[in-house]
Amino acid sequence: MENCIFCKIIAGEIPSQRFYEDDEIIVIKDIEPKAKLHYLCIPKQHFALLSEMNGEQAEIVKRLFEKVGKIAPQLGLGEGYRVIINQGENGGQTVRHLHVHLLGGEKLGDF
Ligand code: 5GP
Ligand code: ZN
Repeated sequence: MENCIFCKIIAGEIPSQRFYEDDEIIVIKDIEPKAKLHYLCIPKQHFALLSEMNGEQAEIVKRLFEKVGKIAPQLGLGEGYRVIINQGENGGQTVRHLHVHLLGGEKLGDF
């Protein structure tokens, strides 16, 4: 997708350190961390919203969560973490390519 920063990162047009990668997803660190550890887990397929997912993308997101559960310890999130998906204007979504925030590495406050 043109002008999508995450598609550019996935395509390697913008360099990034990948903490996990397979054929469906990448995990990178957020450029503006909101916690001691702040990762973004990004499906390689471009779609913006949960409401836009087709069946294949829904399966990718399902597997994404299974993988997050498995790789959390190797990301330094073994003591727990918070999962956030911002959706649309009111949800504060600034990048319109679906992504899952993983926050941890410390005791997080309430929000
Ligand atoms: P949203 O607000 O859409 O849920 O989250 C987008 C996130 O992407 C923000 O937390 C922002 O800091 C992060 N971000 C935006 N541009 C880049 C980038 O070029 N590289 C990385 N690693 N993170 C980015
Ligand atoms: Zn994209």
